[in-house]
Amino acid sequence: MADVHRISLNTATVREQWTLSQAIEGCQRHGIRAITPWRNQVAEMGLAQAARRLSDAQLQVTGLCSGGLFTVPGGQRWNTMIDDNRRAIEEAATLGADCLILVVGGLMPGSTDLESARGLVEDALHELAPYARQAGVPLAIEPLHPMYAADRACINTLGQANDLCDRVGDGVGVVVDVYHVWWDPNLQSEISRAGKDQLLAFHLSDWLVPTTHLALDRGMIGDGVIDLPGISRWMTDSGYEGYFEVELFSTRWWQRDPDEVLTTILTRMNNAI
Ligand code: ZN
Repeated sequence: MADVHRISLNTATVREQWTLSQAIEGCQRHGIRAITPWRNQVAEMGLAQAARRLSDAQLQVTGLCSGGLFTVPGGQRWNTMIDDNRRAIEEAATLGADCLILVVGGLMPGSTDLESARGLVEDALHELAPYARQAGVPLAIEPLHPMYAADRACINTLGQANDLCDRVGDGVGVVVDVYHVWWDPNLQSEISRAGKDQLLAFHLSDWLVPTTHLALDRGMIGDGVIDLPGISRWMTDSGYEGYFEVELFSTRWWQRDPDEVLTTILTRMNNAI
C-alpha cells in the first residue's frame, strides 16, 4: 500500500553511516522522493548548500528535526531558546520543509513540577506560532512516549498535543510517531480529532520485544508489535495525505550497510503497510 512515492527517509535512520550528502544520493539511488534532515547535518553542509542540494535532487523535505526544548527558566535563557527556535523556523523555510518537528523538552533541571513544564511549552508555542505562520512553516508537536517525560518531552499523548493546538491556533499541528503513541487507547480518536489540517507528519518504526534501550533500539518496520497497517489506516481515514516517514534510531541498523537498510525499508513498507 505505501508505495515508494509516499516514503520519506528521516536521516536519523542512517546518521551513523551517511552524511546528509550521502543520504540525498542514497534516496536518489533507491527512488525515495522525500527526506527529513536534522539541523546539525544541515549546519555541517551549510544551509544554502543543503537547500540547493535538496532542491536539485527534487526531494520533498517532509520536515526539519528539530526545534523545541522549551522548558527553560525565564530571562536570558528563555530569550536564547526563542531565538534558536526562530532560527530553526527560518532554516526550515529556506529548505522548503513541510514543518518543523518539535521535541518540546522535559522537566526543568532539579524540578518535579510537570504542570509548570507543560505550561512553558504552551507559552513558547504562543510566542513562536506567529513566526511559524509568517514563514509558512507549521510547528509539529511530537508527543513522546511517557518514559521521556522527565528529560525530553513533557507532552506525552496525542490528546495533549491536540489540546495545545486548540489553544494556540494556526501555525501548530502534530506529528504521529508510532513508537511514541502506539500504546494509547485514545490513539484512533485523537488521530481523527487532529484531522487532515493538523496531521503534519507520520513517523514509522517498530517496538521490539524485548526492547533493550529506551532511545536507540527501535525496530525495523515489521519486526515488532506495533499495528502499523491499522494505525496507517487511521491516518488515511482521517484525511492524511502526506508521507510515511521511516525514523529508526537503532544501534543495530546503524551497523548495517545503509543501502541494505534502505532496501529493507522499501521491501517492508511494501509488504507490511
Ligand atoms: Zn519521530
